[in-house]
Amino acid sequence: MGWPVARAPREYSDRPLPGFKLAYPMLSADGTATGFCGVTLGRAHVYRTVDDAICVHGSRHACPSRWCDCGFYCFHQLSAARDLACEPEYRGAVLLEVAVSGRYRRYERGLRYARQRVCVVRIGRCDCGRPAGLLADSGAGSVGWRRLVPVCATCSGAQPVLAPAAFGRLAGGITVRADGPATGPVAPLAATGTAPVTDDAAAESGAVALLTAEVALLQARLDELQTRLDRLTRHDES
Ligand SMILES: [Zn+2]
Ligand SMILES: [Zn+2]
Repeated sequence: MGWPVARAPREYSDRPLPGFKLAYPMLSADGTATGFCGVTLGRAHVYRTVDDAICVHGSRHACPSRWCDCGFYCFHQLSAARDLACEPEYRGAVLLEVAVSGRYRRYERGLRYARQRVCVVRIGRCDCGRPAGLLADSGAGSVGWRRLVPVCATCSGAQPVLAPAAFGRLAGGITVRADGPATGPVAPLAATGTAPVTDDAAAESGAVALLTAEVALLQARLDELQTRLDRLTRHDES
């Protein structure tokens, strides 16, 4: 898929254009449907896998309007979406690969447009830094929808979770996968090859300290004995 070269004031595409964006994964209150929620504009509105943009300001104009900032947004580059995901406030978001169609307008780093299909959901890291393999209830949401958050198996503990594949099925059969490699420059200490400080090591260093003290004591006693012996020898000689 390439980008149209023509730069018309109002642009339209019959064929899908690729894009990348961040969103919060949502689960309906009855647990039978999934959706997505915008991370900036339109936070209160939940959209489905295939959906048309509505004006989040309540106007009835068609999106995207030249005079309004409403509509779906996406980046041209995957890296731009990943960069945005570094912001602390977006750490609970997932990355979406979307197909854009219908009317659209260009902006600096991507498109603002009318119609969208979510093709792939990429789940990033748990809040603890490990790769997240599950989706849990974040405690946030809007009327009829719970916001989910990516978590790892360790942090999820006993709380109820949704498997990524189940989310994908409820979303109409879309692919949900882990974003990025499981390992990188930031890795757990055990994986770096550095020997961890164990209880055994601590016990060993304690035993060495005790032996050193005992040797010092023995040396002092030997010195004292030697002094007495010297005195006795001097008495015999005189
Ligand atoms: Zn609008
Ligand atoms: Zn975790």
